[in-house]
Amino acid sequence: MLPFAFKKLIYYGYKKGMMRMFGCVFCQIAAREKPSTILYEDEQCIVFQDVNPKAPVHVLVVPRKHIPSLNENMPQDNALLGHLLAVAAHMAKEKGIEGTGYRIVINTNAEAGQTVFHLHLHVMGGRIMRWPPG
Ligand code: 5GP
Ligand code: ZN
Repeated sequence: MLPFAFKKLIYYGYKKGMMRMFGCVFCQIAAREKPSTILYEDEQCIVFQDVNPKAPVHVLVVPRKHIPSLNENMPQDNALLGHLLAVAAHMAKEKGIEGTGYRIVINTNAEAGQTVFHLHLHVMGGRIMRWPPG
């Protein structure tokens, strides 16, 4: 019998390999395998410009860990989610939109318009936002 820790290693290695195989675009950006305009990074997350911006400021805050959506968030990732929000607020300050206002969006699954299944926060601002969003 293989020890549990060893099995876990094989499982996560397999999962990571599968992600690569199916080409998660945000994992590729985080691994510098795909170019992007990176604005910030730390050990837990990476921030880059959205390739198809929907506002004058539109950046994506992306955890390095591959979590497909908020639905797959585990209790052990709660601190990571808090960190992502703090980084989003930091980016709003960096972009000078903290005073005028900004919106943080997490699209989850098809009807919300999620197209990349690697959890990410959109930080958008620099124009007047409508409510409710379409
Ligand atoms: P979602 O629709 O999943 O909430 O958001 C995905 C976002 O990722 C979209 O706003 C889209 O423009 C952006 N995006 C998709 N592919 C790439 C890419 O290869 N590079 C960058 N920088 N952004 C991407
Ligand atoms: Zn990924």
